Amino acid sequence: MKKIAILGSTGSIGTQALEVIRQHPERFEVIGLSTHANANLIIEQAREFKPAMIHVTDETQAKEVKSALKKSSVKVLTGADELDALATDKNVDMVISAIVGFAGLKPTIAAIDAGKDIALANKETLVVAGDIVMDMATRKEVNVLPVDSEHSAIFQVMQGENYDKVRRLILTASGGPFLDTDVKDMYGVSCEDALKHPNWNMGNKITIDSATMMNKGLEVIEAYHLFKIPPFKIEVVIHPQSIIHSMVEFDDRSIKAQMGLPDMRVPIQYALGYPERLKNKLPELDFTEYSSLTFQKPDLEKFPALGIAFETIRRGGNFPCIINAANEIAVDAFLNNQIGFMQISKIVEQTMESATPVVNPAIEDLINSDVEARGKAKEFIKQLNK
Ligand code: NDP
Ligand code: MG
Repeated sequence: MKKIAILGSTGSIGTQALEVIRQHPERFEVIGLSTHANANLIIEQAREFKPAMIHVTDETQAKEVKSALKKSSVKVLTGADELDALATDKNVDMVISAIVGFAGLKPTIAAIDAGKDIALANKETLVVAGDIVMDMATRKEVNVLPVDSEHSAIFQVMQGENYDKVRRLILTASGGPFLDTDVKDMYGVSCEDALKHPNWNMGNKITIDSATMMNKGLEVIEAYHLFKIPPFKIEVVIHPQSIIHSMVEFDDRSIKAQMGLPDMRVPIQYALGYPERLKNKLPELDFTEYSSLTFQKPDLEKFPALGIAFETIRRGGNFPCIINAANEIAVDAFLNNQIGFMQISKIVEQTMESATPVVNPAIEDLINSDVEARGKAKEFIKQLNK
């Protein structure tokens, strides 16, 4: 029995992780669950999976959850430190890190520090603090198992292979809902249009990141830290069908790809079951339904966020942390109709250019850079709306 805690169990990844666990009751036991403020869903999840504890960030919602579950033995926690307590509990073997954004960083670091294996969906953890997190994971002998489909694909392809022999990592990208939209029409796209992802059903933030291709940029940074491959060996190719989840080319020019229907339950299950492959009842891929798999170059004029992300790896230090923070603020402003779609990457770029660089940042420096970048991004948004 692998004992699991899920940070962000009420989200898109969290609920799909619970579906995987539901299919394998003999393998996995849920010890802890967490939500920001979705009282109803976490009450339902607690009743079904009977974890020892759950965490609710919002204190009012936490009270409601406590009262609804008062007859059960589940402990209801609230407050930031208590989320760390859930992630580090002595009975937990593996933590699924599925909170969205910078908020996922602290409990993930706490879990690694406590020696827990990590199934990592929260890519922002590696974007913000990849060096620190991966060093700590090595020291603590913790497995960081990718949940992100591209990174799971590369990780699966690399089983039995040597990272020294990698010539190129080729990350595939769907291109999102605006792949065929003319760049001049992208200034006026609505929130609703941007939230219509062609292949994946995900939380709002990552769906907007997919539309700007910032998601792919963040994934390049994630791959750089996870696999220790330099950025000049990492390529992005648009593959609108999302059947090939990523590829690795080796020194002998042989390329291995990992394929399947776009369904996050596959990479989630691989991370949870690793090193074993578990059976499941998911739909099978019928190749005859895909008469062509196509590929194209990303257009950096339409998707400047991708170029910005590569630039932050070149600059190093706190720059990835800065663009992550600015992006979270800009995406939020777009979702609240305060800025236009193309202004998201503009705000991110402006924030990057005005940031105070820190070389070899410690966690405290990154926390400060995050706060500073959020403040600046908000200022730029205000100026736009004057
Ligand atoms: P969702 O928005 O669907 O879910 C986020 C989860 O985190 C929810 O449980 C939410 O609680 C909780 N949460 C949000 N903010 C906070 C906070 N400040 N403190 C504590 N908990 C919080 O996101 P996704 O599941 O789509 O994404 C999660 C992560 O996985 C992201 O980093 C994303 O990039 C990554 N990822 C997602 C994929 C997908 O298919 N969805 C694919 C690959 C990676 P509440 O329900 O109360 O809001
Ligand atoms: Mg991905």
